[in-house]
Amino acid sequence: MNWEQVFASRASRMKASEIRELLKLLAQPDIISFAGGIPDPKLFPASAFQDAYAEIFRDGAGEALQYSVSEGYLPLREWIAAHMATIGIPCTPDNIMITSGSQQALDYLGKMLLSPGDTALVDWPTYMGALGAFNAYEPNYDRLDPGTNRSAADYAETAAAAGGRVKFAYMSVDFANPTGRTMNRAARERVLDLADELDMAVIEDAAYQALRFDGEAIPPILALEIARKGDIEECRTLYCGSFSKSLAPGLRIGWVCGSQKAISQMVLIKQAGDLHTSTMNQAVIDRVARNVFDDHVAMLRRVYSERRDHMLAALERYMPEGVSWTSPEGGMFVWLTVPEHMDGAELLAKSLKTQRVAFVPGRAFYADGSQGNNLRLSFSLADEETIEEGIRRLGLLLAD
Ligand code: PMP
Repeated sequence: MNWEQVFASRASRMKASEIRELLKLLAQPDIISFAGGIPDPKLFPASAFQDAYAEIFRDGAGEALQYSVSEGYLPLREWIAAHMATIGIPCTPDNIMITSGSQQALDYLGKMLLSPGDTALVDWPTYMGALGAFNAYEPNYDRLDPGTNRSAADYAETAAAAGGRVKFAYMSVDFANPTGRTMNRAARERVLDLADELDMAVIEDAAYQALRFDGEAIPPILALEIARKGDIEECRTLYCGSFSKSLAPGLRIGWVCGSQKAISQMVLIKQAGDLHTSTMNQAVIDRVARNVFDDHVAMLRRVYSERRDHMLAALERYMPEGVSWTSPEGGMFVWLTVPEHMDGAELLAKSLKTQRVAFVPGRAFYADGSQGNNLRLSFSLADEETIEEGIRRLGLLLAD
């Protein structure tokens, strides 16, 4: 069978990453890895999960084991609506759809908004999983840079020349993956201006929102838009939330919050896609969130902020001249910029051989693959000594 001949055109946009093979080496025990941008499993609220499952089975579990509605489990949507109000987004459960992780929300938003040839505005660099989700819908990408005065007309003309129109801007807003940077308030307001001028949607990826260690919280874009327009039903922003970083990713529970008009279209997509997210897992997350969310997140902030501090201090100690890095106020990532003639993927290959330290090379986070001299380091998994030793070795590699 010649599979290439029967694959749809969208399949050609789905490529295995060049670093996949290298990252397989991470399983080797002597490697110090700053590659995985994942929560520390030792910090999962495991006993709260155990209690929640036990309670659900004690109550018979009929509802939790049954099919359920595509919108998602109502008590969980009620908890999320109340949680959203605490971050400046007053809404009702009808403004919320539960997804299987926020990754599914990105896929469904691509499906809902992109025709082949349309343009998505994204950060340079941006979350590579978002590019992977959107790629299936055959878009073009243009660089969203709210810090410049590039006009809406210029974005629109570029999109038209590429054969479509601008459909949305996508951003990882707080402690972004991969840079750790947070979008300031003026940039968020500028995106809303652009959105009105271009008549496009805004996809606000808030996967790390709960993990702020210090500095002042900046209102979500959706909160700023509600403040402008008075009613979530008038808003074009779709906020993607997730329990993956605050409770546990393995249950795959996220959500989208926005106007009912957009949410009801997403519900149709969800119905056709997978009917609904695991009822059991929604019921479990609902109980665990009610019981431990605030205390648990406070503990995560404490532990991860110490790891962030260790990493920044070690970088200060060991990085040679010519290397710079971000100082995130939360999340899991520090973004290193090395001299332009260096390439992250080559550095990774060399590092695995000579220093046994892993990281993610930066190129795959650029929609056009144009820049190679960045490394993404995650501080979420390693203890103080490991961070110290890993950054020391990375310093040796770069000095070499
Ligand atoms: N958005 C960002 C910025 C992420 O870093 C991730 C996970 N790494 C996701 C979305 C997807 O997370 P999940 O599907 O587990 O909610």
